[in-house]
Amino acid sequence: MSESFLRGRTALVTGSTSGIGLAIAKALAAAGARVAINGLGTPEQIASAVREVEAADAGTGPAHVRHFGADLRDPDAIAAMMRDLAAWSDGGVDVLVNNAGIQHAVPLHEMPVSRWNDILAINLSSAFHTMRAALPAMAARGYGRVVNIASVHGLVASKDKAPYAASKFGLVGLSKVAALEYAAQGNRESGGITVNCICPGWVETPLIEPQIQARMRGGSREDGVRALLAEKQPSLRMTLPEEIAALAVFLCRREAHNITGTALPVDGGWTAQ
Ligand code: NAD
Repeated sequence: MSESFLRGRTALVTGSTSGIGLAIAKALAAAGARVAINGLGTPEQIASAVREVEAADAGTGPAHVRHFGADLRDPDAIAAMMRDLAAWSDGGVDVLVNNAGIQHAVPLHEMPVSRWNDILAINLSSAFHTMRAALPAMAARGYGRVVNIASVHGLVASKDKAPYAASKFGLVGLSKVAALEYAAQGNRESGGITVNCICPGWVETPLIEPQIQARMRGGSREDGVRALLAEKQPSLRMTLPEEIAALAVFLCRREAHNITGTALPVDGGWTAQ
């Protein structure tokens, strides 16, 4: 199988104007896929993300990268995006990466209701809406990959993360149900339909910056990073977004047809404790 094994396939990566999503979009483009990116940002940030994905493209050309601007808190906007995508991709996406996510870390009784609603909508419900739209066309083709970016907080809890952990545990459950419902579709040759979660520990992206800042206690940013890792991640190393992307690309390969319904930790031993 060549490195461009996704040539002719279309991928949607939600929340790919930044961080892990942007790294996954670039890695899928490098593997030959036509890539739909999605996410918020200024026009400059979005244009820059599109340029970065185009630059990673395995020679399929700039027409193979497009930004779809749906705000994932809005189910109607998601439905419209999935319809536009079906037209752009001749029938629907082959690879769906539900990556968009937000975080707000405060004790449960201090959590604003609006934050609870937004975190559940973006981190969990949006994946239901995109999967509901995308899975039937995947089944018709006999090939489809859903990679949901959950978290260690889909496997274990931490204080101050009530909506985040609820959304990520929910995403793991939703993914297992979909994996079972689509497990028998397709075959070894077509690649089948798989649905998996990747469950990262700490990954160096803007999402965790407030948690690093909160631990600097007058010291350097490096001190903040060290303190954060020491609390939970035994490897004492951050994961890079590109390392999560490499696993996402592997899950898209045909050889991965029997890896389904899993929640794969990439956490330096966090959940082994
Ligand atoms: P990030 O803040 O760098 O990126 C988040 C992306 O989601 C951005 O593109 C943003 O525009 C998009 N987004 C936010 N609200 C949106 C909305 N309403 N509609 C559409 N897009 C929206 O964060 P990241 O660290 O790259 O996080 C990506 C995923 O990885 C999230 O689901 C997060 O929970 C998960 N994760 C991150 C870590 C970590 O340590 N960074 C650890 C575990 C899991």
